[in-house]
Amino acid sequence: MTTDTATQELTDGFHLIIDALKLNGIETIYHVPGIPVTDLGRLMQAEGLRVISFRHEQHAGYAASIAGYLTQKPGVCLTVSAPGFLNGLTALAHATTNCFPMILISGSSEREVVDLQQGDYEEMDQLAVAKSVCKAAYRILHAQDIGIGIARAIRAACSGRPGGVYLDLPAKLMGQAMDAAAGKKSLVKVVDPAPAHIPAPASISRALDLLKSAKKPLIILGKGAAYAQADADIKALVESSGIPYLPMSMAKGLLPDNHAQCASAARSTVLKEADVVMLIGARLNWLLSHGKGKTWGAPGSQKFIHIDIDPKEMDSNIGIAAPVVGDIASTVAAILKGMGAGWQKAPAEWMKTVREKADANITKMAPRLQNNNVPMDYHGALGALKRIFAERPDVILVNEGANTLDFARSIIDISQPRKRLDVGTWGIMGIGMGYAVAAAVETGKPVIAVEGDSAFGFSGMEIETICRYSLPVCVVVFNNGGIYRGTDKNPTGGADPAPTVFVKDSRYDLMMQAFGGVGVTATSPDELSRAVKEALASGKPTLVNAVIDENAGTESGRIGNLNPQSVVAKKA
Ligand code: ADP
Ligand code: MG
Repeated sequence: MTTDTATQELTDGFHLIIDALKLNGIETIYHVPGIPVTDLGRLMQAEGLRVISFRHEQHAGYAASIAGYLTQKPGVCLTVSAPGFLNGLTALAHATTNCFPMILISGSSEREVVDLQQGDYEEMDQLAVAKSVCKAAYRILHAQDIGIGIARAIRAACSGRPGGVYLDLPAKLMGQAMDAAAGKKSLVKVVDPAPAHIPAPASISRALDLLKSAKKPLIILGKGAAYAQADADIKALVESSGIPYLPMSMAKGLLPDNHAQCASAARSTVLKEADVVMLIGARLNWLLSHGKGKTWGAPGSQKFIHIDIDPKEMDSNIGIAAPVVGDIASTVAAILKGMGAGWQKAPAEWMKTVREKADANITKMAPRLQNNNVPMDYHGALGALKRIFAERPDVILVNEGANTLDFARSIIDISQPRKRLDVGTWGIMGIGMGYAVAAAVETGKPVIAVEGDSAFGFSGMEIETICRYSLPVCVVVFNNGGIYRGTDKNPTGGADPAPTVFVKDSRYDLMMQAFGGVGVTATSPDELSRAVKEALASGKPTLVNAVIDENAGTESGRIGNLNPQSVVAKKA
């Protein structure tokens, strides 16, 4: 039998990629156009995908990573070859480190030329480069493999511990034609991309026995718990156990920060004094001082229950007495069931001690948050924003910087799950505008990005993206004229400024005006409050240049201890 090619209906690589993504529920692509993916981006839009086009791949990548965190579906970033791919790679590594499902799709040059290193346009063995920083990496060479290749990328990103996946699409693949019916049949809809991991019943009993023996238990909630979207059960577990809890930065809001059991304002007390600590979706990494040392109690005096989907997270830094390997939704449900109705709540004495300590600290802080000083300090400015978030719990907070990050984390209360998005596990600068775009696009909610002036600089050009898509994003730049502080001097007396200072009296608000957005300078907490409230009311892209005292702030915020110090005496 011969095929009549004149009447045969054809499809091609472009359409198969789009059809495969759509079949799997992918709706949004974070993108920077260019060779060889310009037409792919255009066709994606034509075929009904939402294509959000950025000015730099790193920000498209960060947007995709946080889209994954917010939706439990892989956020997809589409870039050009070598340089665009490399620009997106930081975000892919970030997604992997933070356990966010993401797929970086990059176009690439022709295999035949790349592999013989004959100097193709943007020649690079991207697959080999990507492998070391992501959870999985694949390349598709034939149109008939697009369906299975994309299915594999989706499953790898979402299943088990989520992470970043790289998908390499050589230019030639996109134009490959194949029979449309056969093409359709080759597509794969992933069934149950993140299968439940049911914890072993013995591991649940072991955890409950340990919890029952505790005099001073503590629950630590991490962003894995927020990602799992088991919000009601997590709240029920905390409340029916009567145990104080500490939310890690992005787990804030799983229960409202003003909850009676919230121990944030008594962090050092609970970490030192707890006898049994239950970690839910939080790693004992540097952010928790690796579970040892002076932040914690005497060695051996504290026992840990660790709930995580990744078995090799157990015993990563210290021995875990009660490892529970499972997904958080299934595990928390099993623990609740095991506790039953007759569960004896944690000793009231302990909760009372923690509450008193936390309340004393909150009371001490309160007057500083009411100050209306000019120039503003961090407490005055963040006090104003704190009151806005209290009125608008639906608003998403994006936060990066050094002092701006550390102070905002402790001052601004969050009262709904997944409303605080920040620098994450690496403490990186640059997530700001990418996160703000994706948060607005994925949730339809207003976003306030609270940014140090240095942090803002990494992604500042993306305010054009925010204006272009008319997103309800209000960027507040905490402008103290420098990194940490704006006061450093060049010790040689030379004309160059010190490496940590910026142009004095910069007008970041004018940048926003350049793209048709609203730009305002605020010099007092009252002005700041007014400007942000107006932005929320109008929904218009807004940048508030919040002028902060250049003397406010400390070196590296709260992690100054991580700076190595020279043993040679300072010159100036
Ligand atoms: P934080 O920085 O907030 O402490 P981490 O990123 O260190 O949080 O830890 C998140 C943990 O959550 C990771 O170890 C990851 O394996 C785990 N995790 C992510 N999703 C799930 C899930 N659905 N079920 C169980 N564990 C999860
Ligand atoms: Mg600064």
